[in-house]
Amino acid sequence: MNLVSELQKVKGVGEKTGLQFAQAGIHTVGDLITFLPRAFEDFSHVTGITDIKPGKATIKAHCEMIVTRPVRRGLRITTATLTDGTGKLQAVWFNQPYREAQLKTGEEFFFSGEFEFNYNRYQLTNPSAEKVSEVPVQTDRVLPVYRAIKGLKSTLVRKILDELKPLVTMLPETLPTTIVQKEKLLSRSDAILAVHFPKTPEQIESGRERLAFEELFELLLASQLNRQENAKLEGWHIPFEQQVVKDFVAGLPFTLTGAQRIAAWDILQDFEKSTPMNRLLQGDVGSGKTVVAGLAARQAAHEGFQTAVMAPTEILASQHAETLQKLLSPFGVTVGLLTGSVKGAARKELYKAIGNGDVQVVVGTHALIQETVSFHRLGFVVIDEQHRFGVKQRQELLKKSEHMPHLLAMTATPIPRSLALTVYGELDISILNELPKGRLPIKTKIWSPNSRPQLYSLVDEEITKGRQAYVICSLIDDNPDNDIKSVQAEYKKLQNSVFKHRRIGLLHGKLAPGEKDAVMQLFARGELDILVSTTVVEVGVDVPNATVMVIEDADRFGLSQLHQLRGRVGRSIHQSYCYLVTSTSASPSQRLKEIEKSNDGFYLAEVDLSLRGAGEIYGHAQHGALNLQIATLADTKLIARAQSAAKAFVASGADLLEYKELAAHVKKYQRLTTLN
Ligand code: ADP
Ligand code: MG
Repeated sequence: MNLVSELQKVKGVGEKTGLQFAQAGIHTVGDLITFLPRAFEDFSHVTGITDIKPGKATIKAHCEMIVTRPVRRGLRITTATLTDGTGKLQAVWFNQPYREAQLKTGEEFFFSGEFEFNYNRYQLTNPSAEKVSEVPVQTDRVLPVYRAIKGLKSTLVRKILDELKPLVTMLPETLPTTIVQKEKLLSRSDAILAVHFPKTPEQIESGRERLAFEELFELLLASQLNRQENAKLEGWHIPFEQQVVKDFVAGLPFTLTGAQRIAAWDILQDFEKSTPMNRLLQGDVGSGKTVVAGLAARQAAHEGFQTAVMAPTEILASQHAETLQKLLSPFGVTVGLLTGSVKGAARKELYKAIGNGDVQVVVGTHALIQETVSFHRLGFVVIDEQHRFGVKQRQELLKKSEHMPHLLAMTATPIPRSLALTVYGELDISILNELPKGRLPIKTKIWSPNSRPQLYSLVDEEITKGRQAYVICSLIDDNPDNDIKSVQAEYKKLQNSVFKHRRIGLLHGKLAPGEKDAVMQLFARGELDILVSTTVVEVGVDVPNATVMVIEDADRFGLSQLHQLRGRVGRSIHQSYCYLVTSTSASPSQRLKEIEKSNDGFYLAEVDLSLRGAGEIYGHAQHGALNLQIATLADTKLIARAQSAAKAFVASGADLLEYKELAAHVKKYQRLTTLN
């Protein structure tokens, strides 16, 4: 038996089990050995039930009674009474009906979960359960838990791995030995042994460190190599014309912030180089990214180059088109808007105008990357809210030019440095860390649902002063199964009662594009007082006269999302307010408290990263595709170490091809992250 033997050959793996593994992509012995635990269950600290305190707890108990009942469609609750001789407590599982069969055997189990106050009593929520008889006694009782594969329990995976233990020691080293030594890392086989067969938490940590380092090293090395390749590309040379830029700036109704000037200067310098720009413009909501892009587009147009601006939604695309039109038409630069709702003859016309260069700045949704669109000397590509676009879509757009165009990716989701390095490793970064002068910090306050009348009177006062308000709900339609607010119902309710005397609009993703636009236009022109909307307004919408943002069921939103939503107000010299209404009168979550406390997107991004992990926040288009198994992007110190090791490796002129497996992984990451 060796690493490439079929898994079926292993003792204890029948045909059925073999097939189940195969469906999860695990075919060989080597595949299973490198199938790493997703978490660890620590049964080393057992508490007696009488001594249990709120928080994470492990008990050793029998199940006395267990029932499952359907609560509503899609929700089944299993409750059990657990006893350990010192006392009894209740355990609750959501949608885990199999717990009944598992626990009814009467054996003793370790249960580990959150002991918390819920539904009017203390209970152990969603605890894991492991038979005491199956937890090895010679260890500290720390057990690896594997990603669920249909029909295969962690217990079985552990058993099979036990059989394979001798083979693990044969795993070859994949990292250059100099790096392993310098970084004081475990060898690859020792690290994998440590995570599959942990004896102590410290051992797990060393194993994890080594494996996470390896992943990050591969990823960062890929970025380094992509950077090297980008540097060899031939781009468009767009010379800097001082007078052109001066005139543009002089025409603005405001003065640029220092940060805007620096970012613009970064871009204009990149334009002059023979290699294409790859730059990320990172600015907190309201920091004024659009005008920076506009300035660069002006310079490009002056030298006869076309600019494409790609936005993730129609609303945003049409708003950008309008803004850029205002900024650029005084200089004779033509702006066109291409979205899914431009149809028939108008669309054909537009294609033609784009193709022959009559339209100099093309704004659009992903309609821009369709086969049929051909550009004319496309020199500059701007991608707004870049984390919403996958690498592939960016590549499609960049392909539409004879030379690689200069790329400016813009994002209002501030990215912690560690994340920027890993996910956007081949981009240069400009940061707008300064809000335009005269902006007052938004006042944010958490409200419990029963204080709504008071809240509404505050909203009404603002409207009386001539301001406008957003009311955000998470659903479009009411769902009979829950009490979550929907825009349809809120719209009706507000219109028929509290705000009868006000002009209210309704916006959500299911409206036809034309309808969405019409509502947005009304709101932007001040012809609506209140806009009841889903999160379609989340990104980029700019109506400076709106000063109130009410977010219903605020606890349902992520931190970054709340910050984005809040960024729709606070865009003028007027004081703005953000009111977060919770779903219940229970004490508000950490998230809401953080957002109430801080207006700083960079700070909130760090908090969000530590609360949730990166995959959730930055979407699967990029981070998910990286498929990091072990490393998390919150590993800032490890990322820094891996980064300098990768740089040193490249600088040393070492030949990657000497490390076969490493090279294969790096190639994969290069393909996943490259812009070209
Ligand atoms: P974001 O960075 O969130 O995309 P926008 O580009 O939409 O921000 O700009 C937000 C608002 O601030 C817009 O109304 C814009 O006209 C205005 N703005 C941009 N720069 C400045 C500035 N330097 N001074 C005053 N207002 C500005
Ligand atoms: Mg914007």
